[in-house]
Amino acid sequence: MDPTHGGGDERAAQLATSLGAVRARIGRACDAAGRDPREVTLIAVTKTCPAADVAALARLGMLDVAESKDQEAQRKRAELPAETASAVRWHMIGRIQSNKARAIGSWAHAVHSVDRLKLVGPLGEGAAERAEPLDVFVQVSLDDDPERGGAPQGQVAAIAEAVAGRDGLRLRGLMAVPPIGADPGQSFARLRELSGHLQHDHPSAGALSAGMSSDLEAAVANGSTHVRVGTALLGRREQIVS
Ligand SMILES: *Cc1c(COP(=O)(O)O)cnc(C)c1O
Repeated sequence: MDPTHGGGDERAAQLATSLGAVRARIGRACDAAGRDPREVTLIAVTKTCPAADVAALARLGMLDVAESKDQEAQRKRAELPAETASAVRWHMIGRIQSNKARAIGSWAHAVHSVDRLKLVGPLGEGAAERAEPLDVFVQVSLDDDPERGGAPQGQVAAIAEAVAGRDGLRLRGLMAVPPIGADPGQSFARLRELSGHLQHDHPSAGALSAGMSSDLEAAVANGSTHVRVGTALLGRREQIVS
């Protein structure tokens, strides 16, 4: 049996329903903000979910998929039929170990979690092996807490400059996760402000990767162009330490 068909019709129906519901939320958030829903890319966060879910999403036309670990992403790519694995646009959203950056650069369509200069070289080397440039979002820490991932705000400009100057990489914009306990609206408003500063030097880097299951409305209201949705699409994950 094809392992990528595990779960079957019931799971596919469930995913179709939740996909409709999330798209409706994005639609309403765009209406409220006077934005065109086509400006917002929905990315399905499939970390901890089986490759069969990625296959089912792809059959529903949902081709933007995010993973948070190199090894897990590569395993799913290998389990999927080759046409599916290459049709999917794989987004890396988790913390990046320096020694994994080159590998990630070779399979990812976009990396949302670039938070230090050291990653730029190896990502560029990995990306040089393929035809399309690798889309890069610089992840910014909105509370400058070094433990949680994201560059301190004062380092964003230098990282962006390095990405923009590197062959094989295309600077798209910024990514952030609201600090624990912070108001998402205020967090995303701050992110939008930082995006404005970035666009002084990099006018084409206006993309914003912001918003998850619980706060996508606040993100869309503040200009998000890429929402990363896990739980609301795929159901609750097992608790993982990441
Ligand atoms: C897991 C994760 C998500 C998805 O979170 P949900 O609350 O399940 O929608 C989005 N972004 C990042 C960086 C994540 O690690």
